[in-house]
Amino acid sequence: MKSISLIIPAYNESANIAPLYEKLQTVLQPLRGRYTFEILFVNDGSKDTTGEEVEKLMQKDTQVQCINFSRNFGKEIATTAGLNHCSGDAGMMLDADLQHPAELIPDFLDKWEKGADVVIGIREESRSDAWIKRVGGKIFYSILNKISDTEIIPNATDFRLLDRAVIDEFNRFTETKRLTRGLIDWLGFKRAYINFEANDRLHGTASYSVWKLTKLALHSFMSLSLFPLKVVGYIGILITSLSFISGLYIFLGKYFFKWYWPLTFSDSEDLAIFIVFLVGIMLMSIGLISLYIANIHEEVIKRPLYIIRKERR
Ligand code: UDP
Ligand code: MG
Repeated sequence: MKSISLIIPAYNESANIAPLYEKLQTVLQPLRGRYTFEILFVNDGSKDTTGEEVEKLMQKDTQVQCINFSRNFGKEIATTAGLNHCSGDAGMMLDADLQHPAELIPDFLDKWEKGADVVIGIREESRSDAWIKRVGGKIFYSILNKISDTEIIPNATDFRLLDRAVIDEFNRFTETKRLTRGLIDWLGFKRAYINFEANDRLHGTASYSVWKLTKLALHSFMSLSLFPLKVVGYIGILITSLSFISGLYIFLGKYFFKWYWPLTFSDSEDLAIFIVFLVGIMLMSIGLISLYIANIHEEVIKRPLYIIRKERR
């Protein structure tokens, strides 16, 4: 029998734990003949009674397990801890606030059984989202896909299932600042997708504010693409070449073809062009230095060189 780990990061979700558990029971019951389940909560330093609620469940159900963080480390780290500690042949991540519809778990398992290594939940847009989150999300994905080397699917969520092979590879990442789903996308593997409509949060409020999301977005740009670094260099090249051309134009006009030239320039204008030229050179140099820093960054995070999907002997 195959074993499945459900990984649930929870931060201040005390009112949601029991209803989530009830829902999981009804969904998992028909599957129990074929699978065993491990329900792994990661209590991300909650300030309410989330820990106690999970403890209660552990008393009556041995399949429930819990990792308690010493303080709040954020969802990305919480899901990472869950993946590090789960033991199943596959791991399924879902939110504790019941926004991810648990009734789709059989569909995820089905796609997995049919050969997908990663099954990703794609969130259909919901009207209840604030417009700023919707518009922001659109802009974020279109920029990211233009500048990044890894393909990123819009609205892909953390509601996803990973095969053991993927989890083992994931556990080799050593970088500390991380976007879990970005890293999973980086890994590749065979993927399948499931569309879902997110429910409203059952209790409490979302702890991801627009500001937190913006920070996460900026970090994703940085970690998935070198474009922000290179852009300074490109601007430098542009400024240098433009000012070189106009400088040459002024120079020729002033000293060689003084009598036929249509435009004349004052000395301070010459100086201005010269300074702009130097600024361009400086920006180019900064761009160059950034590339070296990027290389250092890549060496420091020590990502695996390659990922093997299947070895055949
Ligand atoms: N979460 C967490 N640590 C945090 C913030 C959130 O483990 O610091 C969990 C939270 O309990 C929930 C999931 O991550 O299970 C998604 O969080 P939330 O509902 O606040 O965000 P959104 O629904 O906007 O993605
Ligand atoms: Mg939520």
